[in-house]
Amino acid sequence: MKRSDVSGFYKKSADERWQIIREFGELESSEIDTIRNTGALRFEQVDHMIENVVGAMPIPLGIAVNFQVNGKDYLVPMAIEEPSVVAAASNAARMARERGGFTTSGTGPIMLGQIQLVGVSDPNGARITILAHRDEILAIANEKDPMLVKVGGGAKDVEVRVLETRRGPMVVTHLVVDCRDAMGANAVNTMAEAVAPHLEKWTGGRVYLRIISNLAVRRLARARAVFAREVLKTDDLSGEEVVEGILEAYAFADADPFRCATHNKGIMNGVDAVVLATGNDWRAIESGAHAYAAWKSGGYRSLTTWEKDANGDLVGTIELPMAVGLVGGATAVHPTAKANVRLLGVKSAQELGEVIAAVGLAQNFAALRALATEGIQRGHMSLHARNIAASVGATEEEVDRVAEVLVKERKVRMDRAKEVLAELRAKKTR
Ligand code: NAD
Repeated sequence: MKRSDVSGFYKKSADERWQIIREFGELESSEIDTIRNTGALRFEQVDHMIENVVGAMPIPLGIAVNFQVNGKDYLVPMAIEEPSVVAAASNAARMARERGGFTTSGTGPIMLGQIQLVGVSDPNGARITILAHRDEILAIANEKDPMLVKVGGGAKDVEVRVLETRRGPMVVTHLVVDCRDAMGANAVNTMAEAVAPHLEKWTGGRVYLRIISNLAVRRLARARAVFAREVLKTDDLSGEEVVEGILEAYAFADADPFRCATHNKGIMNGVDAVVLATGNDWRAIESGAHAYAAWKSGGYRSLTTWEKDANGDLVGTIELPMAVGLVGGATAVHPTAKANVRLLGVKSAQELGEVIAAVGLAQNFAALRALATEGIQRGHMSLHARNIAASVGATEEEVDRVAEVLVKERKVRMDRAKEVLAELRAKKTR
């Protein structure tokens, strides 16, 4: 029987690891060659990035064109295995350009570190005690990262909440940290760990968790774009009809979590692709985005909004947590990520986050437009088919049945309508 409890796998040489997986998976040598091909990375590099390394998993890298954000043009690298995403983003960015592209802003790179304190009989008293030590807490935290402080970041504030839980009240301290151009998880976690024993000492409680929160509500990126209605028209639909279709699609998503999960997934198609291409932590961005979609209004809602302005043009906005960095993590070591950041030409983590927000908005627009127009077209098609059926002489009774066949066969034509009607009548007389 095959066994996965391989002892000391991490200590084995690359050759030994390949041998093990080859035997276990009964792989061909060509498959091992595929796995061990590390592309732009040297094997030693990937071997240092994670554990038990055997190779690399290449993902296609595409470039989205047409992006204009705050008047500046960007070529946006996107790493994604799903077809149509890069084309859709480029197409949406082209349409947004007509009205000046994307306008973005952000809150600044503030992350929250959480320290969980339990076992205090007077949680509200403990809260006030902790807050009284604010300056000391900030000094202890900042001692851990002089580099971050030097570049203008560091721990800036302390907040304390009393949380009612199934295990009784907990005192949760938030360390408010300006992470500048770092995503900040390592920096914040280190600070939270340094502060924790002091909280125990001051309150008599016991600390368990000390870790960053991915619900980065103080690190939001925002984007807005106007899509001129005449640009949205399709072969079959006017710009006004497309605007209405998109507004209906958005209203559906914002009202229904079943639809909204897929709606927000479409946004993340664009967001994750740029996050991955720049070597950032896409799980952090994913969890932050969906948690924010649920947190901001007490139910799972759209990360975007869509409205019609006084001209009848479509106005889209997006707001989501954007904990991305330009230093730290893989961003600074992955050669492809580094080249992609240079191509983007972003000068700060905040600028990167805002470009990503614009891509998310573009991706959502493209998906809604495709869905709304195809849906509307299908609706139009059945209406059209009924007209055709009637025009070849189908009675009230026969119209729907003839139209149904025409739509199904995608042959909404007079000649076919005549044939279908004749077949229907022949069946009846038989
Ligand atoms: P890091 O610790 O590698 O680098 C950040 C450090 O770089 C800062 O602490 C600072 O000392 C230094 N620095 C130099 N110039 C800077 C500048 N201009 N701005 C900011 N800092 C500067 O990385 P990190 O960003 O603290 O952590 C990111 C990594 O943590 C990612 O790989 C992520 O996957 C991982 N991580 C994530 C989570 C989570 O999201 N829950 C948890 C643990 C680890």
